[in-house]
Amino acid sequence: RSHVAGNCHTERQDGDVMVHVYGPHIFHTAHEHVWQYMNRFGTLMPYNHKVKATTQGKVFSLPVNLLTINQFFGKTFTPAQAEAFITSIGDQSITDPQSFRDQGLRFVGPELYAAFFDGYTRKQWGVDPVELPASILARLPVRFNDDDTYFSHPYQAIPKDGYTPIVEAILNHDGIKLHLSTRFSPTESKEFGSFDHIIWTGPIDAYFGFEFGRLGYRTLDFVPEVADGDYQGHPVVNYCDTDVPYTRITEHKHFAPWESHDKTIVYREFSRLCGEADTPYYPIRLVKEKEQLLNYVQRARDAKGVTFIGRLGTYRYLDMDVTIHEALLASKTMLECIANKQPLPSFSVDPMA
Ligand code: UDP
Repeated sequence: RSHVAGNCHTERQDGDVMVHVYGPHIFHTAHEHVWQYMNRFGTLMPYNHKVKATTQGKVFSLPVNLLTINQFFGKTFTPAQAEAFITSIGDQSITDPQSFRDQGLRFVGPELYAAFFDGYTRKQWGVDPVELPASILARLPVRFNDDDTYFSHPYQAIPKDGYTPIVEAILNHDGIKLHLSTRFSPTESKEFGSFDHIIWTGPIDAYFGFEFGRLGYRTLDFVPEVADGDYQGHPVVNYCDTDVPYTRITEHKHFAPWESHDKTIVYREFSRLCGEADTPYYPIRLVKEKEQLLNYVQRARDAKGVTFIGRLGTYRYLDMDVTIHEALLASKTMLECIANKQPLPSFSVDPMA
C-alpha cells in the first residue's frame, strides 16, 4: 500500500474531516502498558463510543442495556427485574454455548437475538450463525443499567491526528527503512532469503503460498457520501435487518467531537467474502476450517527465521490493543531469545491457544 498503518489508516478528506478509511477504529484497552505505549507516539483524545442499532423499524441503544430491554419489550423494568426477565427468556438448556447462535439464545433469548444479532451477523459473516464461534458474540456485553458505552474498557480514545501519524512516529527510527507500495511475497520476492529474521504481519496462508488452500476472510466495501450538516447524529448506526444490504453507517466527524465541520462524510459498509485481489479484514474461523488452519499453524511452528503476529499473521479477530500487546510481547520475547542465543519463536501467542 501507499501508506502505513494497515486497516487503521486515517486521512483528512472533504472539508477536512478525519476519515477512518478502512472503517471505524476506536482505541480501547484495559492494558495500562499499551495505553502508555500509544501515548508516547501521539495525542489521544478522550472519546466515549456509543452505537445505535436500527431493527424492525425502530432505533435502540447497543449493547443491549436496561433502556434497550424496556423499549424493546415495552416494559418499565428495574435493573433487577430486567435481569430476572432476560434470564427467564434465555435458553437455559444451552449450558456450554459453542456457536454464535447458542451464545445469543442462551444470553438474550430468541426475540432480542433475532432483532439485533441474527440478521446483522448473517450480513457481516455471510454464514449461518450456527457455524460461527460463540466468542464473536461474547465481544458484546448485556447490561442491566443505563450504561450505553460500546466498550467496557477503562481507557478509550481517538488519536487527535488520526492513527497514521502514530504508526509513522513508531516507525521513525534510525534502524527502520520503510518501503511503501512495494510488494513482498515469500514465494515471489527475490530478496526473500536474505534476512536474518522476518516478522510477518500478512495473512499466515499467504506466507506459505496458500499451500493448504485459502483461509476464509471477510472484506468490506465502503460507499461514501458527502453531505452538509449532521447526517445521522451518531458515529455508528447498525442496521440489523437483512432487507437492508449494508451492516452499518459510519459518520466520521462524530469520532472527533472536539472538531467542528460544516460538511460530513458517511460510509455505508457492506461485507462480503474476501477474494484474491481484496483486502482481508476479518478472519472467519469457521469451526469446519479448523483443520486447514491447524496445517498452517503447524507449518509456522516448524518454520525457522519467521515470527507471525497480528490479526492476519495469527488469523484471529484481534482488536488494536490486543495486537499491540502481543507485538510488544513478541519483541520482548525475541530480545530475550537473542540474549540467550535461543531460536526466535514462531508466535508470541499461538493461534490455536
Ligand atoms: N453484532 C451483531 N449486531 C450488531 C453488532 C454486532 O450481531 O448490531 C455481532 C456481529 O456478529 C459482529 C460482532 O457482533 O461481527 C462483533 O461486533 P463488533 O461491533 O465488535 O464488530 P467490529 O466493529 O469489529 O466489526
